[in-house]
Amino acid sequence: MLVKNALLRFYAELNDFLPAPLRQVAFTHEFERTRSVKDAIESLGVPHTEVDLILVDGSPVTFAHRLRDGDRVSVFPVFESFDISSLTRLRSAPLRNPAFVADVHLGRLARYLRMLGFDTAWPGDVPDDRLAEVAVGENRAVLTRDRGLLKRNAVTHGYAVRSKEPSAQIAEVVSRFDLSAGVRPFSRCLRCNGLLREATQEEIERKAPDRVRQDASGFRFCLGCGRLYWRGSHYDAMQRLVASVIESGAGVLEECAGASGDTSDAPPSTGRSGSGQESECEG
Ligand SMILES: [Zn+2]
Repeated sequence: MLVKNALLRFYAELNDFLPAPLRQVAFTHEFERTRSVKDAIESLGVPHTEVDLILVDGSPVTFAHRLRDGDRVSVFPVFESFDISSLTRLRSAPLRNPAFVADVHLGRLARYLRMLGFDTAWPGDVPDDRLAEVAVGENRAVLTRDRGLLKRNAVTHGYAVRSKEPSAQIAEVVSRFDLSAGVRPFSRCLRCNGLLREATQEEIERKAPDRVRQDASGFRFCLGCGRLYWRGSHYDAMQRLVASVIESGAGVLEECAGASGDTSDAPPSTGRSGSGQESECEG
């Protein structure tokens, strides 16, 4: 069968996925059978969810474009700072209200996102099919380190998390989805992703231990699971997390990784003043 050639060039962070010799250069991609540009891109290791614009000989194409001999293909990532509004982007619209579904390995990242107020499902150890269903059915972007999951056609919004450190992962996600303006700290339950509202006196009396009821403040009630939160000993650490994420610095985050890991074990602090609410969680 006749071997055909296309000239491919990947831009910006898409090069992260390529073998070293193919990064930042135009290279010849050989193919025999007719194949879609999506298949060609993913055969090189780049999940299609990372791609926002494909130009063939200077004109935008869809993922279904059939590669032809001699095609010159430029592949661009999701743009954050370039104005390409005059071109046809592959995704019709960004997710207006960012919402996520994280895979089983990203539980800590899911809690960090909830801490910042972002709607983040974490279904746990479920098959990839189920994760994809949640993404499509609930209009959520998939967060995973499994590139195979992002290659599924059904998954249109997603991000291949690069780092293994939750502290760096949250900085990546905030940057990639441009989330910093939408941060609403302590508005969402870390355990169940439910929304928090101010607790009523009745809820406080029913759920808070005596010592807490007398001394703590800023009580919040989860509409999802009924947990009560109050301002506690992790307050400062969580404030630092929020501040450092907003500033896109990941350095401080590692210090509070443990603090946010399981808030229910720690004793509440008492008599602390300040604005904001959250922290201790009682089942
Ligand atoms: Zn909850």
